[in-house]
Amino acid sequence: MTLFDLSGRVAVVTGGNGGIGFGMAKGLAAAGASVAVAARNAEKAKAAVAALGARSGFIALDVMDEGSCKALIDETVAQFGRLDILVNNAGTSIRKPPEDYTAAEWRIVLDTNLTGALFCSQAAYPAMKKAGGGKIINIGSMYSIFGTSYGAAYAASKGALVQLTKSLAIAWAKDNIQVNAVLPGWIDTELTQGARRHVPELHERVLARTPAGRWGVPEDLAGIAVFLAAPASDFVTGAAIPVDGGYSSMGV
Ligand code: NDP
Repeated sequence: MTLFDLSGRVAVVTGGNGGIGFGMAKGLAAAGASVAVAARNAEKAKAAVAALGARSGFIALDVMDEGSCKALIDETVAQFGRLDILVNNAGTSIRKPPEDYTAAEWRIVLDTNLTGALFCSQAAYPAMKKAGGGKIINIGSMYSIFGTSYGAAYAASKGALVQLTKSLAIAWAKDNIQVNAVLPGWIDTELTQGARRHVPELHERVLARTPAGRWGVPEDLAGIAVFLAAPASDFVTGAAIPVDGGYSSMGV
């Protein structure tokens, strides 16, 4: 097997029906993996699966529901025969000042971005252990590093996701399971189109602060997904890797 060959591997991408998840799913499929696209919106998922090709399929998922996370993994193993790669990418944000969050809003963001990743990882662990190893890729954010006045719940969830990543990496290293986080910079997706409508001059401020001089596109995440899913990263675990056009390196 070559360093970046995913032939015969089976990947689950939560939120793989659009945006960054779909960008990563395309990279994994191009490297040879079979991809289970897991999300709530079946119409979007069907279009994604059609674009990914014959080795992919859709499995309905609500990451806020522990039973749904368990069923996702069971269904993946039933349909595809094994599980090697889990990308915890499903995410959401509720933008408002911290003093205005209701308990329900706080829980939606934390349950989706953080607890859902734990539930899916817990469900995946026995199947990966049985396969002799595995790869878990958690999608953090620049808000894993920085704070934000209009997204306290999002930043809390994404910061905690990095600590969860390190803890799982340590616990499951003995099982040859590598667990890493990817911290995307500002990527043009439905999520950030919403942010741009909500936050004045966000588009221009991101451009000014990103050394690469552009917003990212979902396909910018394909390469890191393949690396962290492939034998090339077998000694990389517990890392949080920015893919941000230099955004997090910029001091002023
Ligand atoms: P999108 O809104 O395009 O994608 C979010 C995905 O999450 C959708 O596929 C959605 O599918 C899925 N999702 C949301 N809630 C649930 C749920 N309860 N159960 C299952 N799936 C769910 O945004 P992005 O592609 O931008 O976001 C993808 C990830 O990348 C998120 O974790 C986000 O925080 C992160 N990120 C994005 C950045 C950006 O600049 N765009 C920067 C840093 C991180 P469906 O609605 O069908 O369930």
